[in-house]
Amino acid sequence: MGRVVCHAVRDRDMEDLLENNDFTGTLEKNGRFPLCAAEIDILQVNLGYRCNLACKHCHVQAGPLRTEMMARENVESIIHTLENSPIRILDVTGGAPELHSNFRFLVTAARAIGCHVMVRSNLAIFFEEDQASLPSFYKECGVEIVASLPYFRIANVDAVRGNGVFERCIKALQILNEHGYGQENGGLKIHLVHNPRGAFLPPSQESLEAQYRKELLENFGVRFNQLYTLANMPLGRFKDFLVRSNGYDAYMEKLRKAFNPSTLDGIMCRRLVSVGWDGILFDCDFNLVAGLSVEEGCPRHIRDFDYEALSRRKIVLSEHCFGCTAGQGST
Ligand code: SF4
Repeated sequence: MGRVVCHAVRDRDMEDLLENNDFTGTLEKNGRFPLCAAEIDILQVNLGYRCNLACKHCHVQAGPLRTEMMARENVESIIHTLENSPIRILDVTGGAPELHSNFRFLVTAARAIGCHVMVRSNLAIFFEEDQASLPSFYKECGVEIVASLPYFRIANVDAVRGNGVFERCIKALQILNEHGYGQENGGLKIHLVHNPRGAFLPPSQESLEAQYRKELLENFGVRFNQLYTLANMPLGRFKDFLVRSNGYDAYMEKLRKAFNPSTLDGIMCRRLVSVGWDGILFDCDFNLVAGLSVEEGCPRHIRDFDYEALSRRKIVLSEHCFGCTAGQGST
């Protein structure tokens, strides 16, 4: 299967990816290879790697010193794609996507076309310069927010995301609640994301959600809609940590042993196309980080987007895919 190897991928990472990929073998054994796209419901867009935070679990290794940002012409190609395809969900991510100068332009244009818009927000961004109007903007546009909150206690969150981040996230959630987010049966949705702190699989989503709900409501008066529990992907800063602590092989073995074929039907790469900050197309943002673009023969840049071709594509698979299929699944 042909590959475009992006600038972001280092030689050693790529050697690991190509030499140790037994995910395809696992799918073959389960009669599920090749894994093909079902239909494309979602266009996921990475606006760039600049962020106000530098979280330890961030698989794109975003941070304040990153300079990669999507060019205006690619933002316009995204709007053109939404106007000319059946895709009706835009999923905006980064970095902190709110730091991109065309962020509000993109969200507003997508809403005008009739798309549902989801934004991956770190919440702490609300307190950065010129961002105080974000909650009102989100409310006006009816944006669905997905926010990382690795745990409901300050020590766990600040250890992963930096000092003071938990407090800012809680304040941001309180502001969003005041704007109507997180109410049962309400239209404005705020979902939280839990990642385990180390090389562990996440606990049951249902039981942890009940705990989050109780702790956040009793201690801070905070309400949210759903909790997603995700395994840490063996990529980016987390992979560096695993390699440094000699834990990479053990973690991969844990993910392999927890392979659950029933997760394959709901896996995100079957329903979305991910657009990198430079306009390159990927099956998901984990493949984006790994530098593996969509399969050869498909259009590989947002300016060439072809819905029919991309919705028939075979997914490019690698070792890190075990992170999506372990236990209850993580996409
Ligand atoms: S990392 Fe997950 S979402 Fe991405 S291609 Fe692999 S299985 Fe699909």
